[in-house]
Amino acid sequence: MKFLMFGAPMAGKGTLANMLAEDYNLPTISMGDILRASIASGDENGVLAKSYMDKGEMVPSEVVCAMIKKRLAEKDVQDGFILDGFPRTPDQLKVFVDEKITDIDVVVNIEVPYETLLTRVIGRRTCKSCGYIYNTSWNLGYEKCPKCSGEWGIRSDDNEETYKNRYEVYLQETLPILSYFEKLGKVVTVQGQDEPEQSYETMLKAFENSNIKGLKEFIEG
Ligand code: AMP
Repeated sequence: MKFLMFGAPMAGKGTLANMLAEDYNLPTISMGDILRASIASGDENGVLAKSYMDKGEMVPSEVVCAMIKKRLAEKDVQDGFILDGFPRTPDQLKVFVDEKITDIDVVVNIEVPYETLLTRVIGRRTCKSCGYIYNTSWNLGYEKCPKCSGEWGIRSDDNEETYKNRYEVYLQETLPILSYFEKLGKVVTVQGQDEPEQSYETMLKAFENSNIKGLKEFIEG
């Protein structure tokens, strides 16, 4: 099954993708993580990407399209995956469709009120070693990563000022492309304002109640 996670920044796309991946043994592909890895490696694309990401703006499409095409051609994602963060603009959608980059079975559209998104951005922590995502608003008191005891890091674009721009870019450039997938009947909308476990349950219920071909069967195993 090929999933595409859709929603505003901080809607929980990465968190729910990781939970689904663990339960159903699917690889995750995160455009943001691919870009952050490129920044960490210090390569030319990474330097360019950072200048956009720090402002909450979209990295040029030529760069992200080339990166995602390479990742989607790899062997481990041929039978299924959970994709987060691509396509994210009308011109990326055009490349996605024209070049038949991949097919998608289900688009998971996660809806969360703006105030909740803002609270989440201030509290997000990402494990520097394994990438596990935690939020201080869950009040679990984790001083370190509960999975691997790694140190917490804060993403450089996780601040209120940059977030406002990321959200605006989402409304202007990303949200309009949802209608393409709606017309194909591939969208499942999930109310994701709760904490992860609860939102995950809500998502699985929405899958079970959907008419998307093969989804109910996939979830029920
Ligand atoms: P994310 O980790 O999904 O929140 O993405 C973090 C940042 O990476 C975004 O604010 C953008 O600057 C950049 N980014 C992620 N995906 C894309 C994309 N498909 N196109 C352009 N920029 C992207």
